[in-house]
Amino acid sequence: MIELEVPLGERSYPVVVGAGARHRLGDVLPDGVQRVAVVTQASIPVAVDPGVDHRVFTIPEGEVGKNIATVERLCRDWAAWGLTRGDCVVAVGGGVVTDTAGFAAAVYHRGVPVLHVATTLLGQVDAAIGGKTGVNLPEGKNLVGSFWQPSAVLCDTEVLATLPAREYRNGQGEMAKYAFLGVDDLQDLPIDEAVAACVRCKADVVGSDEREGGRRAVLNYGHTLGHALETAGRYDLRHGEAVAIGLVYAAELALRLGRIDETRVAEHRAVVSAYDLPMNLPPGVDADRIIELFGRDKKAVGGITFVLDGPSGVEAVKVSDRQLLGQALEAIA
Ligand code: NAD
Repeated sequence: MIELEVPLGERSYPVVVGAGARHRLGDVLPDGVQRVAVVTQASIPVAVDPGVDHRVFTIPEGEVGKNIATVERLCRDWAAWGLTRGDCVVAVGGGVVTDTAGFAAAVYHRGVPVLHVATTLLGQVDAAIGGKTGVNLPEGKNLVGSFWQPSAVLCDTEVLATLPAREYRNGQGEMAKYAFLGVDDLQDLPIDEAVAACVRCKADVVGSDEREGGRRAVLNYGHTLGHALETAGRYDLRHGEAVAIGLVYAAELALRLGRIDETRVAEHRAVVSAYDLPMNLPPGVDADRIIELFGRDKKAVGGITFVLDGPSGVEAVKVSDRQLLGQALEAIA
């Protein structure tokens, strides 16, 4: 078992990675907890035993169920059951469950402790770590939320065996991102070490910039085009697949800005293709619409901000030359 820490002073917490990590739940529960509200989805074949009085609350599948109505339902059910601030919530699932249960825990009784048992690859390498919680509005994804750090995260690599192949690849899209944030030879590592390497990287970034005042933005590498493709919507892409295309786009853009050379672009393509992820725009993409969507990205404060590779590594860069944005899109058409 690999034990890591997200370093946040008094709010630092452990992340346990490895086969069977879910069985450590009893060890990482906060002291004095008498009741545990387990939040999961009906389709997730992962049972946990907190070792104290607990009840399972299921939430709907997918992005459509990640909303304020689900948060209200959870809070009302917890209140009816008598959950108190001295108890805790355990989210067992992928990013949809940890984001939704994490946000409900952040607001219920003005905040109850939450622990995440991440059951998707994407959840283990990304969503369950770092304390971003939230739900969607009809107007857009993740528009309501809060920073609410978990008390512990368990990344049980054993449970990935039941993950549908496409969901596994979805997680690999986020994994590919870490290859450009200083995590070397990721593809050659056994899965538990690969997950741990990603967690270590994210924990380090979050520890230095919890609320995304600066450096945490690097975790959005590949996401500007990724989000635009997801928002444009008509393309059948999972988040990680959209991010994979976004990584190659970011490299092509950085090349045109003179920040990296062809060899580095080829490295991006090699990593993405090694995971068998897409690296070209889906057919029929309207470049003007994508460029318009870039400007609407939540992180686009005062212009179009891209996270780009360069001589000092990956960093946030403002790009104003729309022609270059279009040329880089042509390079991945
Ligand atoms: P998901 O939570 O929808 O899970 C994908 C599917 O896999 C679901 O149908 C789920 O029921 C099923 N599943 C989960 N674990 C399983 C298992 N072990 N075996 C079989 N099936 C299983 O998708 P996701 O990709 O994990 O998460 C996506 C969400 O994460 C998005 O809403 C995104 O906004 C969010 N996210 C949050 C952060 C963050 O920092 N908070 C970061 C990245 C993504």
